[in-house]
Amino acid sequence: MNKLKRSIIYVFFICMIVLVLIFLNRSRIKRFVKHCLGITKNQESGTGSCPNCITLFTDDVATQAKAYANGSGIEPQKDESGLELLCKKKILIKISTNNYYIVDDMNFSKPVVLPKCKIFIDDLANLYKSKCEKNRIKYESFTISSATRSLKSVKKLKAKNNNAIKNSGHLKGKTFDVSYRAFNNNFKQTKLFIESLKELKQLKRCFVKYEKNGCLHITVN
Ligand SMILES: [Zn+2]
Repeated sequence: MNKLKRSIIYVFFICMIVLVLIFLNRSRIKRFVKHCLGITKNQESGTGSCPNCITLFTDDVATQAKAYANGSGIEPQKDESGLELLCKKKILIKISTNNYYIVDDMNFSKPVVLPKCKIFIDDLANLYKSKCEKNRIKYESFTISSATRSLKSVKKLKAKNNNAIKNSGHLKGKTFDVSYRAFNNNFKQTKLFIESLKELKQLKRCFVKYEKNGCLHITVN
């Protein structure tokens, strides 16, 4: 085999290895590129819409606060170190990207929630998955764009977003946001996801508010 042929084979193998590595790390690379480009969460949430959500999901701040009326939430924490301490004590648990949902990079919150909230997220994923199977359509992961905030992060967010409120449910560990825009053109999946959320809401397991900025604000009851 001459030198040129050997070089071509080497280059081919190196390219294959690089392609496999890119494929295996595609979501990390995507997140890294977005981070480098400085794309904010609202911009990256995709283009999908949320049909009927404006009438289906109307639980305002006062209604969602009922979920915390029995003192089931955490005390608002001054900053991130307080949330980290609650994680060490296992009062809050981490949520991370898996086969069923994507946990976005969060600029103004931490991907930690109370165990009850994690159970709810898993139940929501299971219900949505069973609907996809029943309808024989491909499962598309939903995206959690925000979870628990500290008073410091709410203050920072308020400077950017007038809708951010001081006594936000996000301070208490059972509130998270799902980006409906991240479903993009997967209309069938969006519909089944909405159906699943609606069913859990009817079972009084959660309160949901449709937000025009691209997310569904969900508090576990
Ligand atoms: Zn929210």
